[in-house]
Parts: sequence; structure tokens; C-alpha cells
Amino acid sequence: MDQSNWHKLQKYQPSPIQEIPHPVFLEQGLQLLVKRDDLLHWPGAPAFGGNKWRKLKYNLLAARDQGAECLLTFGGAFSNHLAATAAAAQALGFSSVGMVRGERPMQGNPTLDYCEACGMELRFISRTAYRQLTSNLNCLPGEFTGYYVLPEGGSNTLAIQGCAELVEELSEQINLGPANYIAAACGTGATVAGIAVGSKGQVRVLGIPVVGGHFMEGAISKYLADYQYSMPIHWQLENHYTFGGYARFDDALIDFINDFNSEYQIPLDPVYTGKMFCGLIDLARNGFFAGAGTIIAIHTGGLQGVAGFNQRWGNRII
Ligand SMILES: *Cc1c(COP(=O)(O)O)cnc(C)c1O
Repeated sequence: MDQSNWHKLQKYQPSPIQEIPHPVFLEQGLQLLVKRDDLLHWPGAPAFGGNKWRKLKYNLLAARDQGAECLLTFGGAFSNHLAATAAAAQALGFSSVGMVRGERPMQGNPTLDYCEACGMELRFISRTAYRQLTSNLNCLPGEFTGYYVLPEGGSNTLAIQGCAELVEELSEQINLGPANYIAAACGTGATVAGIAVGSKGQVRVLGIPVVGGHFMEGAISKYLADYQYSMPIHWQLENHYTFGGYARFDDALIDFINDFNSEYQIPLDPVYTGKMFCGLIDLARNGFFAGAGTIIAIHTGGLQGVAGFNQRWGNRII
């Protein structure tokens, strides 16, 4: 395998921090910063970026060290994680298999087309089979023996290690204090668990779930327990910004995303980062951050999903 490519995974430019002069924050004497992890990605492959870069990094190194030649993972038809894994496999010389929930869409979609263009073999499985497999990875068929298996969303202990590094990187760029917040969107919760680990209790961590069901608190606690992290840390969730559930949206969210991009030149996606920023501004308006000083929002990427959204709903995100 090409050594210089592995080098790119371990030595990279920290993602930049950008200040957003949003009136709601300025009025309250707060500073809103964005850590642009959407700009952290494999050269020429933005899908292998954002929080998926952080989550995959140590998994890819482990796969290499175990001598695995093939990665296997799971996702829905628009999954950022599938696209990231496909791109990462191609970049680092693994073959890859993606188990996709549900039937193959009649006309394809940009995410799945991209995965296949990266060389990922897609297997479409029923929702029931998908649920069974993802909830018990020991049930994988014998043909996958020797594969490096990434759980759904790539969420495991090595992913948490990678996300914890984000805070280390951040603390070399700016001063973090106990009143400040680091905020990120939660899908499985592994990213926020990693940020909480990295915070070492020295900054507050705020997760904005983008999926309903109130399982997130327990999921994050479990990731922290699996990581055997027992130092005091300050983390919390704000559950009011799911917009009705995973990948649900309304006109206000789409308008917000388009306005935000034209105002600040920061593209957002409708599944994760759009909801997070919408939530942060609403929370600020309601006085949630009073006295917090600086709020650092993590732009976790996910922009590969916009093309699929626009294909499905008619070019609504500009
Ligand atoms: C996958 C993803 C998330 C969710 O990460 P979890 O670790 O599953 O909580 C957040 N933002 C973006 C852009 C993502 O692609």
C-alpha cells in the first residue's frame, strides 16, 4: 500500500475557524465561531471529510494494522458514512462493501452512484435484515470473515478517539474556558461523545439531536462508558430541533439554510448542520447561552447529501 497516502491521514492542516457575526449572538455579547471540519477532507474527495474523517481515522489505521483488505459497513441510501467509507477505501487501497438499507432505488442517486464510482460493492438488504445485522454484527455471513467491519455511522470506540482529537486541535487554535460551549449535531451520538471525551471537563458540550426518540442520552452515556471515560465532563442535549425526525424538514429549515449560505458563505446540509445552526440561533435568542462567551459550532460536513436531497425534492438548496 502507498505509504504517502497513510501519511495524509495522520498529518493534515487543522480545519480553519471562522467567526460568524450573527446579530442574535452579537446583541448578547456572545461570539459564534465555526470549526470548519467540512473543509477537512481527503484531497479531491470531500465526502471523506467532516466528522466522518475524524470517525474513520483510527478505524482505518486499525484495519491496516490487522491486515484487512476489505471494509464492510452499513447505511441508508443517502448515507454520508457510506460515501465517506467508499472514498476512504479507494484512497487507501481497501476494497469495500456497503450494505444498504432497503431496495435499490429505481433511478439511483448521487450518494450510491458515488459509492459505486469509488469501487464500493453495494448490497441491498431488507429493512428487517438490516436491523438484525446492524444490531448484532456477529450474525454477518461467513463470506465476510476477515473484513474490517464498521458499525452503522462508523460509531465505535475508535471513532470516539478520533472525535476527541478535534477538541485537542481546537484548543491549540483558541482558548477554551468552562463557560464556553462546543456544539455539534447528533445522529448516533458518537461524535458528541468523542467531543465530550476531548473536552476533559474544561468546556461545555452541547449536542443537537437530528433524530427523535429520546434514545440519544442513553446512547452517548453508553459510548462514554465503553470508552471507560469517568472524569467529570459537562455535556447536555437540546432535543427541540429534530424538525419531526431524521431527514425530515420544513420550508423554514430550507429557507434558513439558503439564507445562511448567502449571508455567511457557509453551505449547510438539511439533515445535520442546518438543524444544528437553526437550533443554536434559536437557543441564543432564548437566552440559553447567557454569559457563555464563546460558542464553537462544529461544521461536521455532510454536504455530499445535498445533491441527493435536491434530486429528490427539486433543487431547493441553492
Ligand atoms: C454522520 C453525521 C453526523 C452525526 O454523527 P454521529 O456521530 O452519528 O452523531 C453529524 N453531522 C454530519 C454532517 C454527519 O454526516
